[in-house]
Amino acid sequence: MNSLDSLFSLRGHTGLVTGASSGLGVECAHALAIGGADVALVARRADRVAALAAELAEKYGVRTFAAGCDVTYDEEIDRTLALVRGQLGEVDILINNAGISPTGPAETFARDQWDATIATNLTAPMVLSQRVAARLIELGRPGRIINITSVLAAYGSAVYRLASYTAAKGALANLTRQHAIEWARYGILVNAIAPGWIPTEATAGGIAKPKYRERMESFTPMGRLGTSEEIRGAVIFLASAAASYVTGSTISVDGGYQSW
Ligand code: NDP
Repeated sequence: MNSLDSLFSLRGHTGLVTGASSGLGVECAHALAIGGADVALVARRADRVAALAAELAEKYGVRTFAAGCDVTYDEEIDRTLALVRGQLGEVDILINNAGISPTGPAETFARDQWDATIATNLTAPMVLSQRVAARLIELGRPGRIINITSVLAAYGSAVYRLASYTAAKGALANLTRQHAIEWARYGILVNAIAPGWIPTEATAGGIAKPKYRERMESFTPMGRLGTSEEIRGAVIFLASAAASYVTGSTISVDGGYQSW
């Protein structure tokens, strides 16, 4: 690896990004396309992923595919993976980004919200990872899996009340380690990115309230919120040859939030 290109190029690879209809998922998709990977985009809002697919193909000259998919249904995952395979080839870079973050006091937290969070933030990444890894193992091919966790995978939330979210993200962080251990022998490297507070659809409501925004900023050593584009570098690194000896790790993109 004696050039920037040989370290970071993603050409010849096929990525799949869940939750690519807004926020960090859009930026994960840009990152893969900047690296030269073909990219499949999924979310429930099919119109949005279709528009992004067209934009990425035009801007970066990569092949793209978009599909409406609710990742909480295994049959939708299987249908979507089959479509992606037919259009772009075998997925060898999976980014489990789709997530929800309902709030509420822990003592009265609604059971249906709990179940939806676990299904979206934990079970869907497990199912997608299992499906992608099983194919790669069968084909004898290496791959990368990147789970978007959170600074709240390692800590409780002192900003909002997020019982189901912190539980699911903590479990996803440990699932990242378990998958890394089990699949290292197959050349499938599994890592996480833990973002700090970044304005997106999910966080816009809270950030609009000065009380919450001040807490987010004051808990962050860099003293500011992130921008969604700031996740791109970590995505390219973890998907690329540069990360060939990195598995079971978490890269924090959080302005130092976890350094206190
Ligand atoms: P957004 O709300 O902007 O994006 C969430 C994405 O998840 C949307 O594209 C949404 O698409 C998708 N999604 C939700 N449920 C489903 C589902 N059942 N099936 C398919 N797609 C689904 O939030 P962010 O961009 O902020 O969040 C992205 C990830 O980053 C999440 O995992 C979040 O926990 C994590 N994160 C975000 C932080 C932040 O400060 N923003 C901090 C730490 C972590 P659609 O509605 O179209 O289905």
